[in-house]
Amino acid sequence: MAPLAPLGHQLQLNENPYGPPASVREALSRALSSANRYPEFLPQRLPRLIAERLGVDADRIVVGAGATGVIMHIVQEFGSGGAGVVMATPTFDGYPILTTMSGGRPMTVPLTPDGRQDLDAIADAIDERTRLVVLCSPHNPTGALITPREFEKFLHRVPATVPVVLDEAYVDFVPGEDRIEALALVDRHPNLLVLRTFSKAYGLAALRVGYAIGDPELIERIARWQLPFGMNALAEVAVRACYAAEPEIAARVSVIAGHRHRLTAGLRELGLSVPDSYANFSYLTLPEPDIDRVAAALAGAEIHVKRYPTGIRITVGDRSATDAVLATVRSTVQ
Ligand code: PMP
Repeated sequence: MAPLAPLGHQLQLNENPYGPPASVREALSRALSSANRYPEFLPQRLPRLIAERLGVDADRIVVGAGATGVIMHIVQEFGSGGAGVVMATPTFDGYPILTTMSGGRPMTVPLTPDGRQDLDAIADAIDERTRLVVLCSPHNPTGALITPREFEKFLHRVPATVPVVLDEAYVDFVPGEDRIEALALVDRHPNLLVLRTFSKAYGLAALRVGYAIGDPELIERIARWQLPFGMNALAEVAVRACYAAEPEIAARVSVIAGHRHRLTAGLRELGLSVPDSYANFSYLTLPEPDIDRVAAALAGAEIHVKRYPTGIRITVGDRSATDAVLATVRSTVQ
């Protein structure tokens, strides 16, 4: 598990600080000798592989160039022509950006003061122009979780004609007992699309692999937007190798969870407010003047983080990254 060593600490994109396991790197190296060959015209094998792993039919899976690629196709299908897309703010930047790119209108609902998506207000924001609703669990940037009960209650408030995206980019960091039973819910709610990625726990951000799980009819509509030969041929090789290396992936996830506990506890010991995070980042909630001061100190220490109007999102890196963050923040508050 060699940590990457770029300039400073790269804690702004919620990347995995560890490169892929050796077996995955070896599989990728072997595959490079076939780099002269095109990938499949439209991906068939990769959705089958993921479907087998999840125990669902392959027509319930659509893959894309990262979850971002899948989101693009979802908003192209449902969010164009001035359509309303209801989402929290702040949320993963891709949602407002791609909605606007595809000609839709982001309809944003502020987070609650404790960093949760306000499910009642989001349900209230749905009107006759709404064509899509987006929720993330864990949420980006706060790491807050939607409980299974809250989510089911929410689904019952959404008209069956409006697709709901449940973005689970960080689900692998959530303890099993706290997870929404997404696959069972997809069976019962044909308007539900669950989004996942190999960029976070699986550490394959460079290879761009994400997917959605949903009703075959919705999946087929999304897949119509796929670019011919658009999926990286190495994506399938890497996913197959990662599935064969699950214990090592799980070990990385628990190491990252351990660092997140240390980071969160360390920040709280300084008297700072950090909501419970279920992802690979922590959100430091700060009043406006302090945000500038802390952000400037982190930047001065070459610690790259992401700033929001109510705080700073810090990706969990390796041990040295946590040490550096804690030392720098301590120096600004004492
Ligand atoms: N959803 C959420 C909530 C994210 O935070 C991210 C990336 N930061 C993505 C989707 C997109 O990830 P990718 O395109 O790398 O799969």
